[in-house]
Amino acid sequence: MTSLQQAIAQGNTRNIGTELYDFAASLFPICRSITGSGLRQTLQAIGAKIPLQIHEVPSGTSVFDWVVPKEWNIRDAYIADEQGRRLVDFRECNLHVVNYSIPVRARMPYAELTLHLHTIPQHPQWIPYRTSYYKEDWGFCLTHEQLEKFDPHSQYEVCIDSSLEDGSLTYGECYLPGQTEGEILVSSHCCHPSLANDNLAAIAVATGLAKELTKQNLRYSYRFVFAPGTIGAITWLSRNREAAQRIRHGLVLSGIGNTDSFHYKKSRRGNSEVDRAAAHIVSHLPQAGTCLEFSPYGYDERQYCSPGFDLPVGCLMRSVWGTFPEYHTSADDLGFIYADQLGEAWRVCLDIFDVLENNCTYRNLNPYCEPQLGRRNLYGSMGGSHSITEEINACLWVLNFSDGKHSLLDIAERSGLAFPAIQKAADLLFHEQLLAVVDRDSPDRPEANETAFAFNTTSTSR
Ligand code: ZN
Repeated sequence: MTSLQQAIAQGNTRNIGTELYDFAASLFPICRSITGSGLRQTLQAIGAKIPLQIHEVPSGTSVFDWVVPKEWNIRDAYIADEQGRRLVDFRECNLHVVNYSIPVRARMPYAELTLHLHTIPQHPQWIPYRTSYYKEDWGFCLTHEQLEKFDPHSQYEVCIDSSLEDGSLTYGECYLPGQTEGEILVSSHCCHPSLANDNLAAIAVATGLAKELTKQNLRYSYRFVFAPGTIGAITWLSRNREAAQRIRHGLVLSGIGNTDSFHYKKSRRGNSEVDRAAAHIVSHLPQAGTCLEFSPYGYDERQYCSPGFDLPVGCLMRSVWGTFPEYHTSADDLGFIYADQLGEAWRVCLDIFDVLENNCTYRNLNPYCEPQLGRRNLYGSMGGSHSITEEINACLWVLNFSDGKHSLLDIAERSGLAFPAIQKAADLLFHEQLLAVVDRDSPDRPEANETAFAFNTTSTSR
């Protein structure tokens, strides 16, 4: 068993899921945005759990075609009636104010106010989540039931006690060095205010993964990026063009804590090793997941997969953005995500890393007819049975396809057997000196000058 498989087997996913849920719950009340103290406070909380380097990038910094915006902070916001009673109150829910609203203090008639109000008539008890990042504007989000109580003939007092000033954009990075310089990137956006599945679930899972991987001695180096959506990934890429060249595989994590089955959106390349590893793992789950082809809309895979970078980075999620009614509403709350689902997401990511860590290509040293497995105690001694065990089946698949051209992942895909079964068979056969390692390097590496992997001394599995 590989060390990651051991961690998965030993880790009680329910306990881990509960820990991740509690972490998401602790972050839930914070009013985050693409800049500002809520984002900073969130990164500090992550940094209390894993080694995290926090970066501040000044407002006005050019990042490719974009500019780091002014920093937004908010203290209070409300709409009050003529008697001064708060009808909509930021202190009750931070979704009530359009994120990045400019400061406002005014009295205005209903007709003017209503131009700045957002509701969801189909879901009259939910508050929508709206932003105004790159256009100086303001607004309130409220339930449709709240709106229906407004009097069209009244005046209203509007207050948004926010600031939009030169400051900085904050992002966090956790780098875990491995045996090789080649990196696995895990990226999660952390700019949304009180929304649970999008994206506290992924923030919690990524934190839990980094915490687990700090205990492991791994082939790849791992880099976890916690950054505000779009502008954060663009900022990271513009400041890390060299590190980006070392990314061999990557996952953007988002919306990973609800009860939907997994969806994996492939990288722009469409057939990179991470695409195949993720597709393999989610297809073998009890509730089989779905693979989606790349499209240039979505989360931060858009930036990692922009043509100048074209990195092998896909996106692992449960529900796909924009396809479920709770998306970007107050219904995406702590009741929408579950400890069990977070624990399972943590395990699925480790399963994907396990494939990437342990995928390699062997050559069968006894290719002329089958080697006699029985003599080596690899075949059941009792003849005549109509079926063979999965273990023997896996050995036969590995022996047949280990021709120096098929990797273990190729064999897992072709046989329909799960990667750990194929990997375990290869381990057994390697010990019996029936296999030799041909290549452990990822076919996705951009150049051949990466430090060679010393497979005979440092493998995690033998
Ligand atoms: Zn979102």
